[in-house]
This record gives sequence, C-alpha cells and structure tokens, in this order.
Amino acid sequence: MFDALAERLESAWKTLRGQDKITENNIQEALREVRRALLEADVNLQVAKDFIENVRQRAIGAEVIAGVRPDQQFIKIVYDALVEVMGESHSPLAHAEPPPTIILMAGLQGTGKTTATAKLALHLRKERRSTLLVATDVYRPAAIDQLITLGKQIDVPVFEMGTEASPVEIARQGVAKAKELGVDTVIIDTAGRLQIDADMMAELAAIKEAVQPHETLLVVDAMTGQEAANLTRAFHEQVGITGAILTKLDGDTRGGAALSVRQVSGQPIKFIGVGEKVEALQPFYPDRLASRILG
Ligand code: GDP
Repeated sequence: MFDALAERLESAWKTLRGQDKITENNIQEALREVRRALLEADVNLQVAKDFIENVRQRAIGAEVIAGVRPDQQFIKIVYDALVEVMGESHSPLAHAEPPPTIILMAGLQGTGKTTATAKLALHLRKERRSTLLVATDVYRPAAIDQLITLGKQIDVPVFEMGTEASPVEIARQGVAKAKELGVDTVIIDTAGRLQIDADMMAELAAIKEAVQPHETLLVVDAMTGQEAANLTRAFHEQVGITGAILTKLDGDTRGGAALSVRQVSGQPIKFIGVGEKVEALQPFYPDRLASRILG
C-alpha cells in the first residue's frame, strides 16, 4: 500500500530540485504531481483538491530557511498537510468511568464490522479491559451466529436475543447485561446493508439515542477507495460518529480512504484492520503513515 504513491511523489520533489526557493510559479508542477499521486492512490477528488489547496497556501506562505533546499521544504509542507488531514497521533478509545464504556459499531454489510467487533474485544483484553459483545443484526441470523462463533474463539461473552426482539431493545438489554456482569466495555454490533439506506440509518440513530454510546465507530472498507469519503460523510451527518476503523488494508487497496475519513467527518481513524484473523487489528498512527507515504 502507498508504494506507488511514494514513487509518484518522488517526481513531485524532483521538479523543485535546483531551485533556490519555493515560489508560486515553481510549485505548480509539483502540486500537479502530488494531485496526480493522490488520485492514483484512490483519494477522493474533493479531498485531494482541498489537500492541494492547503499545501499551496502553506508553500506560498513558507519562509525561506537557510540551509534547507526547496524540495526538502516542500516535502515537509506535504508531511505537515498529511498530518493535518489524518491527525497527529493515535486517538485512543474512550474509557468511561464508571464502566461500562459503550461502543456502537456502524457500517455497510461486508466491510468487516462483525470481525472488527471481535478484533476490538481481543485488543481491549490486551489492555485488561473485559468486554461483552451484543448482536443486534436481527435480519441475518448468520450474522448473529458469526458473532457467537467469534466470541467463542476469543472467549468473550456474546449477548443476543435471537431475531424476534427489536435491535433497540437488544442493545438496551445488552448494556444492562454488561452492567450486571461488571464488564469494562460493551460493543454493539449492528446490521449493515449493502448500501446506504434510510432504514439502516434510522435504526442506528435509534440505537444510539437509546444507549448513548461513548463511541460510535464507523467501519470503512479501504477497498471502497473514493467512495469511502461519501460513506463517511453520510454516516457522520445522519448518525454521528466518533471515529472509524479502516479495514482490509492488507489487500491490494491503494489506501486513499485513509486520507478521507477525518477530512470529511472531523473524526479520526482509530484502528486499522490488516487481515481476516481476529488478531489483525492495529491502532492507527497517522504520523507514521504520513512518513510512510513520503517514502
Ligand atoms: P460485516 O458484514 O461488515 O460484519 O463483515 P464481516 O465481519 O462478516 O467481514 C466480511 C469479510 O471481510 C469476511 O470474509 C472477513 O473475513 C473479511 N475481513 C474483515 N476484515 C478484514 C481485514 O482487515 N482484512 C481482510 N483481508 N479481510 C477482512
């Protein structure tokens, strides 16, 4: 991921070699290369445009620094803009006092939401935080079974009420159960649809209203590329998210979604999914990714 982007950016820096300083004129070509690089990495068009504008403003306003070549200075400016768009450092999960911390999982079907629910429970256990998982996808019995299977695999309890109760009621009772069990965190898995749909959004909003979660995490499939920006915007506007988990970054994704989430929602990516196994979850470090993008 991002290797092609790093290579492309190399040609952006090259256009500034041999110049004495950055000027509005001599950065045009570099900016065009950066834009091309972003679009090739599947960054959403509007996000790329905003990013380029930010870099342009920073570059024009940059003071000449003795001993720093313009291409190096430009790289630093792009780095700063990347950090600005993705966030500086890892944003940790909320930790409610008194417990339980309530985490609501949202996202389209197939993005890896149920897997991410189990991954998160395993991650929290490493921090000595106990969890209860709650299955509210009453439309797909297979989704409930999947969560139960994952729960067994990682030895974490799963609360479910089959497919007859309403998702709001299951969520509410799941939280009550978490209190009764004295667990640290309750993670509520919800139903997804193949695409954005009013009923799904209304149901999520109703669950959110009922249980008042400390975190509403949107699971975004990195393979959706440009579309990730629109999806994130829709979920944020209609439900309100506090962060995202970007999944399938191990695949042959070009990674552009990583730049979109915070830009369109103001909320950070908190974790990334890097494989199908339950262990394949990592905290997201924007500054490290920015360094990697710049090669
Ligand atoms: P849900 O419908 O959103 O709950 O999605 P699932 O959790 O059932 O995941 C859908 C598919 O994506 C499954 O085959 C998962 O194994 C796979 N998956 C989930 N997360 C990742 C990931 O980070 N990397 C890869 N390669 N596959 C993943």
